[in-house]
Amino acid sequence: MEGVNSNSASEQLFARARNVSPGGVNSPVRAFRAVGGTPIFMRSGAGAWLTDTDGNRYVDLVGSWGPMLLGHAHPEVLAAVTDAVGRGTSFGTPSEPEVLLAEEIVGRTPVESVRMVSSGTEATMSAIRLARGFTGRDKIVKFAGCYHGHVDALLAEAGSGVVTLGLPETPGVPAHVTADTIVLPFNDRAAVDAAFAEHGDQIACLITEAAAGNMGVVPPRSGFNAFLAETCTRHGALFISDEVMTGFRVTRSGHWGLDGEPEGWRPDLLTFGKVMGGGFPAAAFGGRRDVMEMLAPVGPVYQAGTLSGNPIATTAGLATLQLADAAAYARLDDASAQLQAMVGEALADAGVPHVIQNAGNMFSVFWGAETPVTNFAGAQAQQTWRYRPFFHAMLAAGVYLPPSAFESWFVSAAHDSEALSRIAEGLPGAAQAAARAVNPERRTEAE
Ligand code: PLP
Repeated sequence: MEGVNSNSASEQLFARARNVSPGGVNSPVRAFRAVGGTPIFMRSGAGAWLTDTDGNRYVDLVGSWGPMLLGHAHPEVLAAVTDAVGRGTSFGTPSEPEVLLAEEIVGRTPVESVRMVSSGTEATMSAIRLARGFTGRDKIVKFAGCYHGHVDALLAEAGSGVVTLGLPETPGVPAHVTADTIVLPFNDRAAVDAAFAEHGDQIACLITEAAAGNMGVVPPRSGFNAFLAETCTRHGALFISDEVMTGFRVTRSGHWGLDGEPEGWRPDLLTFGKVMGGGFPAAAFGGRRDVMEMLAPVGPVYQAGTLSGNPIATTAGLATLQLADAAAYARLDDASAQLQAMVGEALADAGVPHVIQNAGNMFSVFWGAETPVTNFAGAQAQQTWRYRPFFHAMLAAGVYLPPSAFESWFVSAAHDSEALSRIAEGLPGAAQAAARAVNPERRTEAE
Protein backbone atom coordinates (compact mmCIF):
# COMPACT_ATOMS: atom_id res chain seq x y z
CA MET A 1 0.00 0.00 0.00
CA GLU A 2 1.35 3.44 -0.85
CA GLY A 3 -0.13 6.32 1.05
CA VAL A 4 -3.76 6.63 1.93
CA ASN A 5 -6.82 5.85 -0.19
CA SER A 6 -8.05 8.46 -2.62
CA ASN A 7 -11.11 9.37 -0.59
CA SER A 8 -9.16 9.93 2.56
CA ALA A 9 -9.11 13.29 4.27
CA SER A 10 -5.34 13.47 3.67
CA GLU A 11 -5.85 12.93 -0.07
CA GLN A 12 -8.51 15.61 -0.20
CA LEU A 13 -6.46 18.08 1.85
CA PHE A 14 -3.40 17.40 -0.29
CA ALA A 15 -5.36 18.18 -3.48
CA ARG A 16 -6.53 21.46 -1.94
CA ALA A 17 -3.05 22.24 -0.60
CA ARG A 18 -1.45 21.75 -4.02
CA ASN A 19 -3.87 24.32 -5.40
CA VAL A 20 -2.70 26.98 -3.03
CA SER A 21 0.89 26.04 -2.08
CA PRO A 22 3.87 24.79 -4.14
CA GLY A 23 3.81 21.01 -3.94
CA GLY A 24 1.10 21.25 -1.29
CA VAL A 25 3.65 21.62 1.51
CA ASN A 26 5.52 24.27 3.45
CA SER A 27 8.82 22.35 3.57
CA PRO A 28 9.88 20.03 0.73
CA VAL A 29 10.68 16.72 2.47
CA ARG A 30 7.13 16.58 3.84
CA ALA A 31 5.82 16.01 0.30
CA PHE A 32 6.78 12.28 0.24
CA ARG A 33 8.60 12.76 -3.10
CA ALA A 34 11.38 10.38 -2.03
CA VAL A 35 9.01 7.60 -0.98
CA GLY A 36 5.98 8.22 -3.22
CA GLY A 37 2.36 8.41 -2.20
CA THR A 38 0.35 11.08 -0.42
CA PRO A 39 1.65 12.91 2.63
CA ILE A 40 -0.34 12.14 5.74
CA PHE A 41 -2.00 15.19 7.24
CA MET A 42 -1.77 14.89 11.02
CA ARG A 43 -4.42 16.28 13.31
CA SER A 44 -3.09 15.59 16.78
CA GLY A 45 -0.28 14.07 18.76
CA ALA A 46 0.02 12.65 22.27
CA GLY A 47 3.20 11.13 23.67
CA ALA A 48 4.79 8.84 21.09
CA TRP A 49 1.66 8.80 18.91
CA LEU A 50 0.26 10.85 16.05
CA THR A 51 -3.32 10.73 14.77
CA ASP A 52 -4.09 11.70 11.18
CA THR A 53 -7.12 13.54 9.83
CA ASP A 54 -8.85 10.19 9.19
CA GLY A 55 -8.34 9.01 12.75
CA ASN A 56 -5.49 6.54 12.01
CA ARG A 57 -2.86 6.30 14.75
CA TYR A 58 0.89 5.99 14.20
CA VAL A 59 3.93 5.66 16.41
CA ASP A 60 5.89 8.76 15.50
CA LEU A 61 9.59 8.36 14.67
CA VAL A 62 9.95 11.83 13.17
CA GLY A 63 9.20 13.91 16.27
CA SER A 64 8.62 17.01 14.14
CA TRP A 65 12.18 16.42 12.80
CA GLY A 66 13.70 16.48 16.25
CA PRO A 67 12.01 18.99 18.57
CA MET A 68 9.60 16.63 20.36
CA LEU A 69 12.11 15.30 22.89
CA LEU A 70 9.40 14.58 25.48
CA GLY A 71 6.78 13.40 22.99
CA HIS A 72 3.72 15.29 21.81
CA ALA A 73 1.45 17.40 24.00
CA HIS A 74 3.39 16.86 27.20
CA PRO A 75 0.89 18.00 29.87
CA GLU A 76 3.38 20.21 31.73
CA VAL A 77 4.63 21.88 28.56
CA LEU A 78 1.02 22.51 27.51
CA ALA A 79 0.19 23.93 30.95
CA ALA A 80 3.15 26.32 30.82
CA VAL A 81 2.24 27.43 27.29
CA THR A 82 -1.45 27.87 28.10
CA ASP A 83 -0.54 29.96 31.10
CA ALA A 84 1.82 32.10 28.99
CA VAL A 85 -0.71 32.53 26.16
CA GLY A 86 -3.20 33.92 28.66
CA ARG A 87 -0.81 36.80 29.31
CA GLY A 88 -0.42 37.73 25.62
CA THR A 89 1.52 36.23 22.74
CA SER A 90 4.14 38.78 21.68
CA PHE A 91 5.24 42.13 23.05
CA GLY A 92 8.22 43.19 20.97
CA THR A 93 9.97 43.99 24.24
CA PRO A 94 12.29 41.92 26.40
CA SER A 95 10.35 39.53 28.67
CA GLU A 96 11.18 37.13 31.48
CA PRO A 97 10.87 33.74 29.67
CA GLU A 98 13.64 34.59 27.20
CA VAL A 99 16.01 35.44 30.07
CA LEU A 100 15.15 32.19 31.84
CA LEU A 101 15.72 30.18 28.66
CA ALA A 102 19.02 31.98 27.95
CA GLU A 103 20.17 31.24 31.52
CA GLU A 104 19.21 27.57 31.06
CA ILE A 105 21.20 27.39 27.80
CA VAL A 106 24.24 29.15 29.28
CA GLY A 107 24.05 26.78 32.26
CA ARG A 108 24.09 23.63 30.09
CA THR A 109 26.35 24.43 27.17
CA PRO A 110 29.74 25.99 26.48
CA VAL A 111 27.97 29.24 25.57
CA GLU A 112 28.68 32.43 27.56
CA SER A 113 26.17 34.63 25.78
CA VAL A 114 23.26 33.75 23.52
CA ARG A 115 20.96 35.51 21.02
CA MET A 116 17.50 34.04 20.29
CA VAL A 117 16.11 33.76 16.77
CA SER A 118 13.14 31.88 15.29
CA SER A 119 14.66 29.11 13.15
CA GLY A 120 17.84 27.09 12.79
CA THR A 121 18.41 28.71 9.41
CA GLU A 122 18.42 32.13 11.03
CA ALA A 123 20.80 30.87 13.71
CA THR A 124 23.44 29.58 11.28
CA MET A 125 23.03 32.53 8.91
CA SER A 126 23.56 34.96 11.80
CA ALA A 127 26.50 32.98 13.23
CA ILE A 128 28.24 33.11 9.84
CA ARG A 129 27.68 36.87 9.58
CA LEU A 130 29.00 37.34 13.09
CA ALA A 131 32.09 35.24 12.38
CA ARG A 132 32.80 37.27 9.25
CA GLY A 133 32.26 40.51 11.15
CA PHE A 134 34.47 39.41 14.04
CA THR A 135 37.38 38.15 11.93
CA GLY A 136 37.10 40.61 9.05
CA ARG A 137 37.48 37.64 6.70
CA ASP A 138 35.09 36.31 4.04
CA LYS A 139 35.71 32.61 3.42
CA ILE A 140 33.75 29.91 5.18
CA VAL A 141 34.32 26.17 5.29
CA LYS A 142 31.55 23.58 5.43
CA PHE A 143 31.30 19.85 4.85
CA ALA A 144 29.49 18.06 2.04
CA GLY A 145 26.32 16.44 3.27
CA CYS A 146 26.00 18.74 6.27
CA TYR A 147 22.83 20.82 6.25
CA HIS A 148 22.68 24.12 8.07
CA GLY A 149 19.31 25.36 6.88
CA HIS A 150 18.57 27.07 3.59
CA VAL A 151 21.18 29.81 3.95
CA ASP A 152 22.37 30.81 0.44
CA ALA A 153 26.08 30.52 1.23
CA LEU A 154 25.63 27.17 2.98
CA LEU A 155 23.67 25.33 0.28
CA ALA A 156 26.84 24.58 -1.62
CA GLU A 157 27.95 20.94 -1.57
CA ALA A 158 31.15 19.38 -2.82
CA GLY A 159 31.61 16.70 -5.40
CA SER A 160 34.44 14.37 -4.61
CA GLY A 161 37.95 15.70 -4.20
CA VAL A 162 39.79 17.95 -1.81
CA VAL A 163 39.45 21.69 -1.58
CA THR A 164 36.60 22.66 -3.82
CA LEU A 165 35.14 26.09 -4.23
CA GLY A 166 31.37 25.68 -3.96
CA LEU A 167 29.10 26.33 -6.90
CA PRO A 168 25.43 27.19 -6.43
CA GLU A 169 23.28 24.10 -6.72
CA THR A 170 20.00 25.87 -6.24
CA PRO A 171 18.78 28.33 -8.84
CA GLY A 172 18.44 31.67 -7.13
CA VAL A 173 21.78 31.51 -5.35
CA PRO A 174 24.18 33.82 -7.23
CA ALA A 175 27.63 32.34 -7.88
CA HIS A 176 29.32 35.21 -6.02
CA VAL A 177 27.40 34.28 -2.84
CA THR A 178 29.00 30.83 -2.71
CA ALA A 179 32.35 31.87 -4.17
CA ASP A 180 33.70 32.15 -0.63
CA THR A 181 32.28 28.80 0.53
CA ILE A 182 34.81 25.97 0.63
CA VAL A 183 33.17 22.55 0.74
CA LEU A 184 35.12 19.58 2.08
CA PRO A 185 34.45 15.88 2.66
CA PHE A 186 33.20 15.19 6.20
CA ASN A 187 35.57 13.41 8.56
CA ASP A 188 38.56 14.16 6.32
CA ARG A 189 41.42 15.73 8.30
CA ALA A 190 43.75 15.90 5.30
CA ALA A 191 41.19 17.93 3.33
CA VAL A 192 40.81 20.34 6.26
CA ASP A 193 44.58 20.71 6.57
CA ALA A 194 44.90 21.37 2.84
CA ALA A 195 42.14 23.99 2.83
CA PHE A 196 43.63 25.84 5.78
CA ALA A 197 47.15 25.59 4.32
CA GLU A 198 45.92 27.33 1.19
CA HIS A 199 43.33 29.78 2.55
CA GLY A 200 43.96 29.87 6.31
CA ASP A 201 44.38 33.63 6.64
CA GLN A 202 41.15 34.27 4.70
CA ILE A 203 38.89 31.81 6.50
CA ALA A 204 36.38 33.45 8.84
CA CYS A 205 34.92 30.22 10.19
CA LEU A 206 34.38 26.54 9.76
CA ILE A 207 30.85 25.28 10.39
CA THR A 208 30.00 21.63 10.93
CA GLU A 209 27.11 19.61 12.25
CA ALA A 210 28.34 18.42 15.65
CA ALA A 211 27.32 14.98 14.39
CA ALA A 212 25.93 14.86 10.88
CA GLY A 213 22.24 14.00 10.88
CA ASN A 214 21.19 15.31 7.50
CA MET A 215 22.84 12.69 5.27
CA GLY A 216 21.56 9.99 7.54
CA VAL A 217 23.46 9.85 10.82
CA VAL A 218 27.21 10.08 10.29
CA PRO A 219 29.05 10.65 13.56
CA PRO A 220 32.35 12.51 13.59
CA ARG A 221 35.36 10.21 13.85
CA SER A 222 36.90 10.15 17.30
CA GLY A 223 38.71 13.43 17.92
CA PHE A 224 37.50 15.05 14.66
CA ASN A 225 35.59 17.92 16.28
CA ALA A 226 38.49 18.64 18.66
CA PHE A 227 40.81 18.69 15.64
CA LEU A 228 38.52 21.18 13.87
CA ALA A 229 38.42 23.42 16.94
CA GLU A 230 42.20 23.34 17.24
CA THR A 231 42.74 23.97 13.52
CA CYS A 232 40.43 26.99 13.56
CA THR A 233 42.13 28.45 16.63
CA ARG A 234 45.57 28.02 15.06
CA HIS A 235 44.47 29.97 11.97
CA GLY A 236 42.47 32.68 13.73
CA ALA A 237 39.18 31.35 12.34
CA LEU A 238 36.08 30.64 14.44
CA PHE A 239 34.77 27.11 14.94
CA ILE A 240 30.97 26.98 14.69
CA SER A 241 29.37 23.79 15.91
CA ASP A 242 25.85 23.44 14.53
CA GLU A 243 23.84 21.71 17.24
CA VAL A 244 20.42 22.61 15.83
CA MET A 245 19.60 18.90 15.57
CA THR A 246 21.79 17.41 18.30
CA GLY A 247 21.51 20.20 20.88
CA PHE A 248 19.68 19.19 24.09
CA ARG A 249 18.85 15.88 22.37
CA VAL A 250 21.83 13.57 22.54
CA THR A 251 22.79 14.82 26.00
CA ARG A 252 21.42 17.62 28.20
CA SER A 253 23.76 20.01 26.33
CA GLY A 254 24.04 18.30 22.97
CA HIS A 255 26.76 16.43 21.12
CA TRP A 256 29.33 18.64 22.88
CA GLY A 257 28.39 16.72 26.03
CA LEU A 258 29.72 13.56 24.32
CA ASP A 259 32.98 14.82 22.86
CA GLY A 260 33.69 18.43 23.91
CA GLU A 261 32.95 18.47 27.60
CA PRO A 262 34.90 15.27 28.42
CA GLU A 263 37.85 16.30 26.23
CA GLY A 264 37.91 19.90 27.39
CA TRP A 265 37.54 21.89 24.16
CA ARG A 266 34.85 24.43 23.25
CA PRO A 267 33.46 25.73 19.97
CA ASP A 268 33.69 29.51 19.53
CA LEU A 269 30.04 29.61 18.48
CA LEU A 270 27.19 27.11 18.62
CA THR A 271 23.79 27.10 16.95
CA PHE A 272 20.66 25.60 18.46
CA GLY A 273 17.04 25.06 17.40
CA LYS A 274 14.50 22.22 17.43
CA VAL A 275 14.40 20.93 21.07
CA MET A 276 14.99 24.38 22.58
CA GLY A 277 11.65 25.55 21.15
CA GLY A 278 9.67 22.63 22.57
CA GLY A 279 7.70 22.45 19.30
CA PHE A 280 7.51 26.22 18.75
CA PRO A 281 9.68 28.33 16.44
CA ALA A 282 12.68 29.16 18.62
CA ALA A 283 16.38 28.86 17.89
CA ALA A 284 19.57 30.55 19.02
CA PHE A 285 23.23 31.12 18.42
CA GLY A 286 25.77 31.84 21.10
CA GLY A 287 29.31 31.34 22.27
CA ARG A 288 32.31 33.35 23.38
CA ARG A 289 31.30 36.60 25.03
CA ASP A 290 33.90 38.66 23.15
CA VAL A 291 32.53 37.35 19.84
CA MET A 292 28.85 37.74 20.80
CA GLU A 293 29.47 41.31 21.89
CA MET A 294 30.26 42.22 18.30
CA LEU A 295 26.48 42.01 17.79
CA ALA A 296 24.28 45.09 17.77
CA PRO A 297 23.45 46.87 20.03
CA VAL A 298 26.86 46.34 21.71
CA GLY A 299 28.86 46.02 18.51
CA PRO A 300 28.44 46.79 14.82
CA VAL A 301 27.24 43.42 13.40
CA TYR A 302 23.52 43.81 12.75
CA GLN A 303 21.04 41.05 13.53
CA ALA A 304 17.39 41.37 14.62
CA GLY A 305 13.97 39.69 14.62
CA THR A 306 10.36 40.78 15.27
CA LEU A 307 9.48 37.53 17.04
CA SER A 308 12.95 36.65 18.43
CA GLY A 309 12.70 35.40 22.00
CA ASN A 310 8.92 35.13 21.65
CA PRO A 311 7.41 34.56 25.12
CA ILE A 312 5.33 31.52 24.10
CA ALA A 313 8.13 29.78 22.22
CA THR A 314 10.67 30.44 24.97
CA THR A 315 8.20 29.27 27.63
CA ALA A 316 7.69 25.99 25.73
CA GLY A 317 11.43 25.59 25.27
CA LEU A 318 12.20 26.31 28.90
CA ALA A 319 9.55 23.85 30.13
CA THR A 320 10.92 21.19 27.77
CA LEU A 321 14.52 21.65 28.92
CA GLN A 322 13.55 21.70 32.60
CA LEU A 323 11.50 18.51 32.24
CA ALA A 324 14.30 16.76 30.36
CA ASP A 325 16.04 15.37 33.43
CA ALA A 326 18.51 12.50 33.62
CA ALA A 327 15.64 9.98 33.80
CA ALA A 328 14.10 11.35 30.59
CA TYR A 329 17.43 11.06 28.73
CA ALA A 330 17.89 7.54 30.10
CA ARG A 331 14.41 6.54 28.80
CA LEU A 332 15.16 8.10 25.44
CA ASP A 333 18.55 6.43 25.08
CA ASP A 334 17.08 3.10 26.12
CA ALA A 335 14.17 3.31 23.65
CA SER A 336 16.61 4.25 20.89
CA ALA A 337 18.96 1.36 21.71
CA GLN A 338 16.07 -1.13 21.77
CA LEU A 339 14.75 0.19 18.48
CA GLN A 340 18.15 0.01 16.77
CA ALA A 341 18.50 -3.60 17.91
CA MET A 342 14.98 -4.48 16.70
CA VAL A 343 15.53 -2.91 13.28
CA GLY A 344 18.93 -4.56 12.90
CA GLU A 345 17.52 -7.97 13.77
CA ALA A 346 14.55 -7.67 11.40
CA LEU A 347 16.76 -6.57 8.51
CA ALA A 348 19.32 -9.29 9.20
CA ASP A 349 16.55 -11.95 9.37
CA ALA A 350 15.25 -10.78 6.00
CA GLY A 351 18.75 -10.76 4.52
CA VAL A 352 18.85 -7.02 3.86
CA PRO A 353 22.42 -5.69 3.90
CA HIS A 354 22.58 -2.55 6.01
CA VAL A 355 24.54 -0.53 8.52
CA ILE A 356 22.82 1.27 11.41
CA GLN A 357 24.68 4.34 12.68
CA ASN A 358 23.99 6.48 15.67
CA ALA A 359 25.07 9.65 17.40
CA GLY A 360 23.72 9.23 20.91
CA ASN A 361 20.00 8.47 20.58
CA MET A 362 19.79 9.70 16.96
CA PHE A 363 20.22 6.96 14.39
CA SER A 364 19.54 5.95 10.81
CA VAL A 365 19.84 2.96 8.52
CA PHE A 366 22.16 2.90 5.50
CA TRP A 367 20.52 0.50 3.08
CA GLY A 368 22.86 -1.90 1.31
CA ALA A 369 25.95 -0.54 3.08
CA GLU A 370 28.53 -3.07 4.18
CA THR A 371 30.96 -0.83 6.02
CA PRO A 372 30.44 2.25 8.21
CA VAL A 373 29.51 5.39 6.32
CA THR A 374 31.86 8.27 7.10
CA ASN A 375 30.95 10.94 4.55
CA PHE A 376 28.44 12.16 1.99
CA ALA A 377 29.76 10.00 -0.86
CA GLY A 378 29.25 6.92 1.30
CA ALA A 379 25.77 8.07 2.31
CA GLN A 380 24.75 8.66 -1.30
CA ALA A 381 25.92 5.19 -2.31
CA GLN A 382 23.18 3.53 -0.26
CA GLN A 383 20.27 1.63 -1.85
CA THR A 384 17.55 4.19 -1.21
CA TRP A 385 15.15 2.11 -3.34
CA ARG A 386 14.95 -0.39 -0.50
CA TYR A 387 13.63 2.30 1.81
CA ARG A 388 10.51 3.15 -0.19
CA PRO A 389 8.70 -0.20 0.31
CA PHE A 390 10.01 -0.42 3.88
CA PHE A 391 8.61 3.02 4.65
CA HIS A 392 5.17 2.21 3.22
CA ALA A 393 4.97 -1.17 4.94
CA MET A 394 5.73 0.52 8.27
CA LEU A 395 3.19 3.24 7.54
CA ALA A 396 0.53 0.59 6.83
CA ALA A 397 1.51 -1.04 10.15
CA GLY A 398 0.97 2.26 11.96
CA VAL A 399 4.53 3.59 12.23
CA TYR A 400 5.41 7.02 10.89
CA LEU A 401 9.03 7.15 9.69
CA PRO A 402 10.88 10.04 8.04
CA PRO A 403 9.86 10.10 4.37
CA SER A 404 13.48 10.00 3.23
CA ALA A 405 16.36 7.56 3.72
CA PHE A 406 18.71 10.47 4.43
CA GLU A 407 17.09 11.55 7.69
CA SER A 408 17.66 10.59 11.29
CA TRP A 409 14.96 8.64 13.12
CA PHE A 410 13.91 10.44 16.29
CA VAL A 411 12.54 8.77 19.40
CA SER A 412 11.22 10.59 22.45
CA ALA A 413 11.17 10.01 26.18
CA ALA A 414 7.52 8.96 25.66
CA HIS A 415 8.39 5.95 23.47
CA ASP A 416 7.29 3.26 25.91
CA SER A 417 6.85 -0.49 25.54
CA GLU A 418 3.45 -0.06 23.84
CA ALA A 419 5.00 2.15 21.15
CA LEU A 420 7.96 -0.21 20.71
CA SER A 421 5.60 -3.20 20.43
CA ARG A 422 3.72 -1.54 17.60
CA ILE A 423 7.02 -0.99 15.79
CA ALA A 424 8.14 -4.58 16.47
CA GLU A 425 4.93 -5.90 14.88
CA GLY A 426 5.55 -3.94 11.68
CA LEU A 427 9.25 -4.64 11.26
CA PRO A 428 9.36 -8.23 9.88
CA GLY A 429 6.93 -7.47 7.03
CA ALA A 430 8.65 -4.20 6.22
CA ALA A 431 12.06 -5.87 6.23
CA GLN A 432 10.71 -8.50 3.80
CA ALA A 433 9.42 -5.71 1.56
CA ALA A 434 12.89 -4.10 1.61
CA ALA A 435 14.46 -7.49 0.79
CA ARG A 436 12.14 -7.96 -2.22
CA ALA A 437 12.73 -4.42 -3.52
CA VAL A 438 14.22 -4.18 -7.00
CA ASN A 439 16.78 -1.58 -8.00
CA PRO A 440 14.86 0.54 -10.56
CA GLU A 441 18.06 1.06 -12.58
CA ARG A 442 18.54 -2.71 -12.95
CA ARG A 443 14.89 -3.11 -13.94
CA THR A 444 15.30 -0.52 -16.67
CA GLU A 445 18.47 -2.23 -17.92
CA ALA A 446 16.67 -5.58 -18.07
CA GLU A 447 13.67 -4.23 -19.95
N1 PLP B 1 21.12 23.02 11.14
C1 PLP B 1 20.85 21.72 11.26
C2 PLP B 1 21.92 20.79 11.72
C3 PLP B 1 19.59 21.23 10.94
O1 PLP B 1 19.33 19.91 11.04
C4 PLP B 1 18.60 22.14 10.49
C5 PLP B 1 17.25 21.66 10.13
O2 PLP B 1 16.98 20.50 9.99
C6 PLP B 1 18.91 23.49 10.40
C7 PLP B 1 20.19 23.90 10.75
C8 PLP B 1 17.89 24.49 9.95
O3 PLP B 1 16.92 24.64 10.92
P1 PLP B 1 15.46 25.20 10.52
O4 PLP B 1 14.80 24.14 9.71
O5 PLP B 1 14.81 25.45 11.84
O6 PLP B 1 15.68 26.45 9.75
